[in-house]
Amino acid sequence: MELLFLILIISILFLIFFTKNKPNIVSEKSYYILGTLINLKVFGKESEKAIDEAIERLIDIDNKMSAFKESSEISKINKNAGIALQTVSNETFSLIDKSISYSELSEGAFDPTIRPLVSLWGIGTKSERVPTEIEINDNLKLVNYRDIILNKDDNSIGLKKQNQSIDLGGIAKGYAADEVVNIFLKHGIKSAIIDLGGNIFVLGNKNNESFWNVGIQNPFMPRGEHIGILSLKDKSIVTSGNYERFFIKDNKAFHHIIDPKTGYPSSSNVISATIISDNSIDGDGLSTGVYIMGLDKALDLIESIKGVDAIFITNDKNVFVTSGIRHNFKLSNTEFIYNNN
Ligand code: AMP
Ligand code: MG
Repeated sequence: MELLFLILIISILFLIFFTKNKPNIVSEKSYYILGTLINLKVFGKESEKAIDEAIERLIDIDNKMSAFKESSEISKINKNAGIALQTVSNETFSLIDKSISYSELSEGAFDPTIRPLVSLWGIGTKSERVPTEIEINDNLKLVNYRDIILNKDDNSIGLKKQNQSIDLGGIAKGYAADEVVNIFLKHGIKSAIIDLGGNIFVLGNKNNESFWNVGIQNPFMPRGEHIGILSLKDKSIVTSGNYERFFIKDNKAFHHIIDPKTGYPSSSNVISATIISDNSIDGDGLSTGVYIMGLDKALDLIESIKGVDAIFITNDKNVFVTSGIRHNFKLSNTEFIYNNN
């Protein structure tokens, strides 16, 4: 009897030891959603379930917010431009509202009504081309975030003029990354790396031990070549870069971030802007805006926002790192010059 009891106790202890120390369950899946390649790597018991729920959520966001999908809420607003307001979901309403706050913060550099110019250039599509100056000027008249009408009473949104249209491509992935983080936290996930086409969120520590290492892309080299490494936990790391989407015509490269003041791809001295923040929506909205603003204004703006940091790379290979993140970043490529002022 005593022996049986002893065996039972040993078995229970063994079971407790085994479950506590079993190798961490890891799931990794890739999908194509939000017009980009998504990769989710998740550690934890519920990793598989958490990924499935996140994917459903991303598809839902894409269906509501894509400017390319005929039935999306954004397409409905765009079709009704200058005609009527369109009732939208709470999340589309708040994302557009938030986008406007980034337009104000970036002095109009980030502008969600940029779509007429984005479609005119067609960068990343079959119809990409250098438009004529007349075409650019005609479409430039349609870009103005102040023409977005928000009616909080019935969650409806509209645009003042016909042919105006909204494009949330510069911010939607950030919002989506935050939604994925919330789903993972709900499932008790303590460690994950969320990659929405280069918009990264590092959740917790890598394997519960060390920080995650995230490479900062060398804007002059093919994908995967880094200028240095950021070591972080629980942060969003979003980069806007000239290398992300572009085409070449007559030996000149035309990239996908359009300056709403000129109608041409931004030609500021910044060719890569990485924002490090707690929320990816902030990182995404800011990265596109500061990329266009140019180095001096960009540094001033980011240093003025608490809890937000940045790494900027200029066209003459200088790297600028804001004060809050210097100890987390290591520049490894000696072709680049490190500045910390
Ligand atoms: P990101 O990679 O986050 O910088 O976003 C770039 C995408 O945002 C482009 O592909 C466009 O869809 C959109 N976009 C381009 N220029 C602007 C702009 N000035 N303001 C807001 N969105 C923009
Ligand atoms: Mg962005």
